[in-house]
Amino acid sequence: MDRIHEELTKAKTVAIAGHIKPDGDCMGSCLGLYNYILKKYPDVEVDVFAEAIPPAFEFMKGTDKLILNYEGRERYDLFFSLDCGDLDRLGKADKHFKRAGRTICIDHHISNKGFADINYIRPEISSTSEYVYELIDTSYVDIPIAECLYVGIVHDTGVFQYSCTSSRTMAVAGELMDKGIDYPRLVDESYYEKHMVQNRLMGYCLLNCQLKLDDKVVMALLPKSVLDEYGGVASDLEGIVAVLRHTKGIEVAVFIYELNEGRYKVSLRSSGKVDVSVISVEFGGGGHKMAAGYSVKCDIHKATEKLLSMIEEQLRGQD
Ligand code: 5GP
Ligand code: MN
Repeated sequence: MDRIHEELTKAKTVAIAGHIKPDGDCMGSCLGLYNYILKKYPDVEVDVFAEAIPPAFEFMKGTDKLILNYEGRERYDLFFSLDCGDLDRLGKADKHFKRAGRTICIDHHISNKGFADINYIRPEISSTSEYVYELIDTSYVDIPIAECLYVGIVHDTGVFQYSCTSSRTMAVAGELMDKGIDYPRLVDESYYEKHMVQNRLMGYCLLNCQLKLDDKVVMALLPKSVLDEYGGVASDLEGIVAVLRHTKGIEVAVFIYELNEGRYKVSLRSSGKVDVSVISVEFGGGGHKMAAGYSVKCDIHKATEKLLSMIEEQLRGQD
């Protein structure tokens, strides 16, 4: 906290960015920190960059100020990379990172090697949003900041359910609740609520998923033609892999969708025995032990066979 405070008191211009294809924790941590800096350091000029604004997070204060075309200033005194495991995942914000006077990384991805000048990387913390709360002066946390951070924590913990949830996560969430946020509405509207296109795509995946490796793996593949047929977009697929993982008896859930001709996004979730971050790193991606992903441009059947053999190898090592 002291180091961040010191850098913020020296900086006149600050940029904040998270990873491409932003999720709840990415949006929550970026906008939580953005609103905090505006409040505690009113003389600092802050820009926040994002690739998109998923509709579920439009309620967060500051979404109307997000710079979606990555233009911003020529150079920032200070750059915060949040919830982003490597420089590639900063997307077009990497140019601001490279030109910045000083860079700070705050993250909880186990695959993060520490690519900034100052690195706060704690894989045991549930979410970057929880970590941001630990690093700021919490007396400045008002309702809009608390809403951003709470929703970020909710999304990365699957509503306080995944094993990344610690007693400290619950304590932080409690402190955020005490700021006066409408937490049932936030959870409903940002996490559980799905529109019909999302429901139908979920239905397609549940109807067409297959069991592999003696029923230890459940796998669903969504072709681009199906996504287009239902009028969906990639962000509509959030949450499908988490539902697949609820299948009784499975160790790994695999959800694959076609991004465009020949390029596939793979999402992996583990029930505990398999470290899916190791597998994702092997394919050029990253993530956490229990939730990770990557994208591949190749023959998806061959890539799937390789993936299954890597899962099998880890499962064999457990017996
Ligand atoms: P999801 O499967 O929900 O897209 O992502 C699960 C986790 O894996 C997230 O923490 C996310 O940051 C990470 N992840 C997903 N895809 C990629 C990828 O292509 N590269 C890297 N480095 N991490 C990824
Ligand atoms: Mn995260």
